[in-house]
Amino acid sequence: MINRLCIIGVGLIGGSLARALRAKNACKTVIGCGRSESHLQRAIDLGVIDEYTTDVVEAVKGADMIVLSVPLRAMQSLFEKIDSVIDDGVVITDVGSAKSSVELAARKGLKQSLSQFVPGHPIAGTEKSGVDASFADLFKDRKIILTPLEENSQADIQRVTSMWEETGANVQCMSVTHHDEVLAATSHLPHVLAFGLVDTLSQMSDSDEIFQYAAGGFRDFTRIASSDPVMWRDICVENSDAIIKIMDMYIKDLEALKQLIVSADLDSIEKLFARAKAIRDAYTQST
Ligand code: NAP
Repeated sequence: MINRLCIIGVGLIGGSLARALRAKNACKTVIGCGRSESHLQRAIDLGVIDEYTTDVVEAVKGADMIVLSVPLRAMQSLFEKIDSVIDDGVVITDVGSAKSSVELAARKGLKQSLSQFVPGHPIAGTEKSGVDASFADLFKDRKIILTPLEENSQADIQRVTSMWEETGANVQCMSVTHHDEVLAATSHLPHVLAFGLVDTLSQMSDSDEIFQYAAGGFRDFTRIASSDPVMWRDICVENSDAIIKIMDMYIKDLEALKQLIVSADLDSIEKLFARAKAIRDAYTQST
């Protein structure tokens, strides 16, 4: 049971976590923190949080669990502000989508309380943002990856694990490097491709007509291009090494596929598509 949960960034992820824990009576009080009073008042009206403040130092006072759920590049200054007011026994975690950069920000910002910070990332989300998009079941049967620091105690890792398990999620630990490479391939690259494709098509002279005739395939492929630009800008810059590596591999393979099309190599194209279809079918059946 969490006594006082402090959510810094009450948007899609922070709001959904608060909703999930409240639904399970796993926390007594939720205090929300953000920059905009109107966003925080909306979170009160929706019953997501009990109290709010825009002052992060005020927000963390008396909390026993603090969750940072803000864009990646907002993390370091928040760590710096809260570091000196974190009491012993308080656990801090985050939900950032790239973990090397958050660990670096924590090492720079948390001088006294670094060992109390257990980095995390829920592998769950939607293309929507803000507290209105949050819902209690977002993490049910989804994976949460923790990338613990060597300074963390087993007890603190367990407290973060228990919090996420209350939401119905399955928690796994992973190294930071492995996390960032896997997520670059499975999440960050698809988002870059979706944003890039929509942008390319929008620059064509007959783009209005093109979008008019776009059907289900375009809608499926580009759904995630409706995601928040600031969040994805930050992810691209903060996980750039891993993203560039997988982009280079994809560009090379796309060029090779283009050559198969140029040479009308029916056999090779069919083999490649059949291989991809089998893998996609097996993936969708297993999830
Ligand atoms: P979101 O819905 O836009 O929520 C972000 C919240 O952070 C907003 O409530 C915003 O409120 C607040 N905020 C922004 N900058 C702030 C600052 N400097 N100080 C205090 N509060 C600030 O975004 P989200 O989708 O929940 O994403 C939050 C984090 O979760 C990101 O790090 C992202 O990488 C990670 N994540 C996202 C997904 C996904 O699918 N969306 C999945 C997994 C992890 P104000 O504007 O009022 O300040």
